[in-house]
Amino acid sequence: SVSVVLFTCDLRLHDHPPLHAALEGSEEVVPLFVRDRDIEAAGFGVPNRAAFLADCLAALDAGLRERGGRLVVRSGDVVAQTCAVAAEAGADRVHLAAGSSGYACRRERRLRRALEAQGRRLVVHDGVFTAVPPGAVTPGSKDHFAVFGPYFRRWSQERAREVLAAPRAVRVPEGVGSEPLPSRSGLAGVSRGLARGGETEGRKRLAAWLRDGLDAYADRGDELGADGTSRLSAHLHFGTLSPVEVIHGARRRGGPGAEAFVRQLAWRDFHQQVLAARPDASAADYRTQRDRWRGGAAAEEDVAAWKEGRTGYPLVDAAMRQLLHEGWMHNRSRLVTASFLTKTLYVDWRVGARHFLDRLVDGDLANNQMNWQWMAGTGTDARRNRVLNPLSQARRYDPQGTYVRRWVPELAGVAGRAVHQPWKLPDKERAGLGYPDPVAGLAEGQARFRRARGLDR
Ligand code: FAD
Repeated sequence: SVSVVLFTCDLRLHDHPPLHAALEGSEEVVPLFVRDRDIEAAGFGVPNRAAFLADCLAALDAGLRERGGRLVVRSGDVVAQTCAVAAEAGADRVHLAAGSSGYACRRERRLRRALEAQGRRLVVHDGVFTAVPPGAVTPGSKDHFAVFGPYFRRWSQERAREVLAAPRAVRVPEGVGSEPLPSRSGLAGVSRGLARGGETEGRKRLAAWLRDGLDAYADRGDELGADGTSRLSAHLHFGTLSPVEVIHGARRRGGPGAEAFVRQLAWRDFHQQVLAARPDASAADYRTQRDRWRGGAAAEEDVAAWKEGRTGYPLVDAAMRQLLHEGWMHNRSRLVTASFLTKTLYVDWRVGARHFLDRLVDGDLANNQMNWQWMAGTGTDARRNRVLNPLSQARRYDPQGTYVRRWVPELAGVAGRAVHQPWKLPDKERAGLGYPDPVAGLAEGQARFRRARGLDR
């Protein structure tokens, strides 16, 4: 018999339950990737992720060829294309990893209906994209956890499944046509410092991280200058790494670094289960605060300064420039820049979330939207009205100014702590820097936010 494995955000051969099941049950398997025109039309095919995706597909194809197979690529409507491939190959079933977004659920429903109409089956597998599937642990009376602490306790008690080996051989039936693989070259607007994608690259990064980085994570993970995080997020987003395998690897190593790191992976599952239960929260407030966010020309100018990294606050600008240059940002930088946009500038979180999705190589609907809501105080955070002060954050997480000097070259020559407050330098020195004055006062921004939220009544 023949099966189709439809790859989406799970572009790997190791620890891949759908591929494993297909190979157990069929002599021949068609590994399929559809360049989904709906995802592209919704604005998700942005250059950084398109480039990373091209690397991932090339690596997946290469891995399959080493095993005697190949990747079949099609483009168009994902349901129509999958059904067409299943018919061409004479497959009796299609294997798919479960997704958590509203779109993924609709795709699954449509695909099941269309395949059943052809007399074929859809088999959906959990535990591919997340370690613990959305809905697997719930707080009893509700369909999802809205508080991380209790979620994490339950999540930690779940028994992790075994890691599945990569297949030794894959036989693809003849006569199933494929389009050429998309290529990274020729894509305009890709960040210059973008990391490379693909399973081989992801596995190398994971091995190096477990060996050299993990132990110091609890102490140095939040230090911006140290760059001491795993940078595995894009591999987890595209599924070139399995979260189950990453967690097993960290737990085997053990220690405080591993504990802190596994906790972050639980955050990832946490946000996925929120979005799975509340798909509307990708665009609408999870908890409505009746914000009347700023609009108009002045707000637009502030947003432009924020996007381009010229707000006059060195830490915010360093972070935003890192995003432009690498298509990636440290978690602390994401928190500070999101607080700055939503609370100090009082601009709608959706504006910031869109910009992040346009640029981030790891841009992920659940992680991005739910983290933005967290920081805007419309999400699951109980401390909804806290404002992160970019100066105290800079003193705490970039005490030597290493991060700021790395990303804001105008300030590279400013000695000591003045690098975080260039507006305090003598006029003459300041004028020579070519670095802007702050777009807004921190105290005024905070007061405006408190008024808007009705906190000072
Ligand atoms: P590490 O510190 O090494 O953590 C390991 C892994 O844990 C990460 O790769 C990631 O998968 C997961 N993780 C870590 N922190 C979080 C978190 N707060 N929430 C969910 N998962 C987490 N992450 C994305 O993957 N995609 C996004 O689009 C995204 N947007 C964000 C937007 C904002 C405003 C904020 C505050 C955070 C966002 N994050 C997002 C979460 C986090 O910032 C990144 O996952 C992390 O910075 C990636 O770097 P890393 O792989 O080195 O992380």
